[in-house]
Amino acid sequence: MALKIKRGDTVKVVKGKDKGKIGKVKKVLIEKKRLIVEEVNIVKRHMRAMGPDRPSGIVEMEAPISWSNVRLICPSCGEPTRVGFRFEDGKKVRYCKKCNEVID
Ligand SMILES: [Zn+2]
Repeated sequence: MALKIKRGDTVKVVKGKDKGKIGKVKKVLIEKKRLIVEEVNIVKRHMRAMGPDRPSGIVEMEAPISWSNVRLICPSCGEPTRVGFRFEDGKKVRYCKKCNEVID
């Protein structure tokens, strides 16, 4: 399946409490249509102690956000954009709908 957003992409949040934030995609949860983005949607979790090196306490971590809440930042034009697909040399590639450049 072709994904519009991949790990390592830079995205901008366009909806929700972190609207306007920009971060790097750490993980794509394909089945849930969600992303984990660095420094976005931080939640606090209480962790149980996991041995001497991992004391219990509150840990901040990124919770997944819906991929409809973000736009990809195009590496070519630097703008938040929608992603399209087209075929080039028989290969499906992503492209920026703003500047028309292939992304990858
Ligand atoms: Zn672009």
